[in-house]
Amino acid sequence: MADLVRVNNLVKYFDIGPGEKVHAVDDVSLSIGEREIVGLVGESGSGKSTFGKTLLGLHVKTSGQVLYKGEALPNKYKPNDFRMYAPHMQMIFQDPYSSLNPRMTIGEIVGEGLKLHSNLSQVVIRERVIDWLQQVGLQADHISRYPHAFSGGQLQRIGIARALILEPEFVVCDEPISALDVSVQAQVVNLLDDLKNRLGLTLLFIAHDLSMVRYVSDRMAVMYLGSLVEVGAADDVFFDPKHPYTKVLIGSNPEPDPISERKRKSTTIQGEIPSPVNIPDGCRFANRCPEVMDICRHKTPILISLTNLANEQKPRQVACHLFT
Ligand code: SF4
Repeated sequence: MADLVRVNNLVKYFDIGPGEKVHAVDDVSLSIGEREIVGLVGESGSGKSTFGKTLLGLHVKTSGQVLYKGEALPNKYKPNDFRMYAPHMQMIFQDPYSSLNPRMTIGEIVGEGLKLHSNLSQVVIRERVIDWLQQVGLQADHISRYPHAFSGGQLQRIGIARALILEPEFVVCDEPISALDVSVQAQVVNLLDDLKNRLGLTLLFIAHDLSMVRYVSDRMAVMYLGSLVEVGAADDVFFDPKHPYTKVLIGSNPEPDPISERKRKSTTIQGEIPSPVNIPDGCRFANRCPEVMDICRHKTPILISLTNLANEQKPRQVACHLFT
């Protein structure tokens, strides 16, 4: 599978005062193949959303490189760059309530990208908007209504239509269901799954619900305090996690399917995630790790490929001294 997106050593720090920086994303490398879904998981504050936004150019990178089809994306987008790349790379945002402009009609919201990035007439744009509203399970007459008239699940469908009307190849889904009622979460996930299959989309699916990520993803990447600690086939990582953080993260996440739940080893995650302003020396997980060793407190583990996992569907990478 050819890489559609390749991220090399991406770093994103936010300056918060003299000499103080939030280390939101620290030296992350990840490739995403064409038509692949990579799930990115981790606790709140682990840097998942910042990674997705920086990858798309919504934040200026501190350092590192993002390649799209082998071509390096600019660090700081100029208007022309947006015109060139925005139709190919889109984002579905976490909170449908705040990500849609309440003063615009649904037709204006969904059609805005086509207005900016195409030469299509108003009539054709309107036809495309209606088509997309219907593709995401809404109705043609919703086009003239405003966001306040819709439920959270409907608003997220509108957000999906807005992102996909440009027919992007790559979409970052930033916790697309976490703001929704449990009753509509599965509907939105099934819609994304259906659209992915029909349109051949490549997705980075950011979420903290590991069961949901396993369900939709080909591979799973686990992020802790701005760094990747484990990457592998979604089922392999979920049912046979190698990194101690992945183990406690999965162990603390109940599996809704009773058969899968029986396979799962239940654990709880102890202690607090360290401040991203004062990153500890050595392994970032050392203060919470049940398997911590002396070396962990002064030497930073790097992501390495495990070569002795014969039955793995895809290569597994782990950053932990237990494997070095
Ligand atoms: Fe635990 Fe050490 Fe592995 Fe870090 S490197 S996860 S502290 S065993």
